[in-house]
Amino acid sequence: MTDSHLPGRLTSRHILATEGLSPGEITLLLDLAEAYVEQNRAVEKKTALLRGRTVVNLFFENSTRTRTSFELAAKRLGADVINMSAEGSSVRKGETLIDTAMTLNAMRPDVLVVRHSESGAVRLLSEKVDCAVVNGGDGTHEHPTQALLDALAIRRRKGRLQGLLVAICGDILHSRVARSNIHLLNAMGARVRVIGPPTLMPSQIDRLGVEVFHDMAKGLDGCDIVMMLRLQTERMQGQFVPSIREYFRFYGLDRIKLAHAKPDALIMHPGPMNRGVEIDSEVADDIDRSLIREQVEMGVAVRMACLDLLTRSIVSNVGGP
Ligand code: ASP
Repeated sequence: MTDSHLPGRLTSRHILATEGLSPGEITLLLDLAEAYVEQNRAVEKKTALLRGRTVVNLFFENSTRTRTSFELAAKRLGADVINMSAEGSSVRKGETLIDTAMTLNAMRPDVLVVRHSESGAVRLLSEKVDCAVVNGGDGTHEHPTQALLDALAIRRRKGRLQGLLVAICGDILHSRVARSNIHLLNAMGARVRVIGPPTLMPSQIDRLGVEVFHDMAKGLDGCDIVMMLRLQTERMQGQFVPSIREYFRFYGLDRIKLAHAKPDALIMHPGPMNRGVEIDSEVADDIDRSLIREQVEMGVAVRMACLDLLTRSIVSNVGGP
């Protein structure tokens, strides 16, 4: 494969959120990613589609799978990739977010993949640079490629998204994964429930078009998908749960709670997992029902689709002073 798989473009030159992506754009990304799943399963995984293009991973917050996944995606498309983490950059010396972005922009990358602990920081940065920007997670706001890879994993197993009942469980308050999934799943005609303790539930979350539950048994009743979230202690100021043991007792996913969902319900988790906190190993490692490994695999394919589509939209990155 040396060329793009499907025709089509995104309306924006960036991917900053799933909020605002149309069902057509989501479907385009997922269909394209399907083709990349095949490419990634082949012996020869590399093409020259993005030869000559430069992708910079700019991570101001820790990441293992997202950064690696973007790096692999870019390399499999033949791009040059630079990884920058805040630790090793001038950010440590006090250079601002915008200065860092402007400096990188001057080196003429084609795509910047940015992760930042502040909600809205990636959008701000995208307004200052010439290249395409992908949000690799901004604070508690959005993590669009996670929701896209989740959707791909679900669609491949269930054959559709429309009409599915999806429960997103746990620390909704601090979760950008939850927000991105809610927007995407709603756009695609799935029904979304959020389940968690009142302390970890954003006020007015129902305005996003979800049903709110505080009881796992009731919330999981009849669900097709059970998506667990990590307790994001790094974003918590103060005590949000009485104790880990108590949290697991009421909200940790185990066989007993899972029995309330449909018999063929699938289990998901964006990682990193805290076994014994939000999920029991027995269900996390259930090869028939857990999609967790597949989610990681789909991540590379979805990010290839994003890079492919975004670089098609780049009309010209040359010229200028
Ligand atoms: N990896 C996901 C994120 O970056 C989920 C998590 O960290 O819990 O938001």
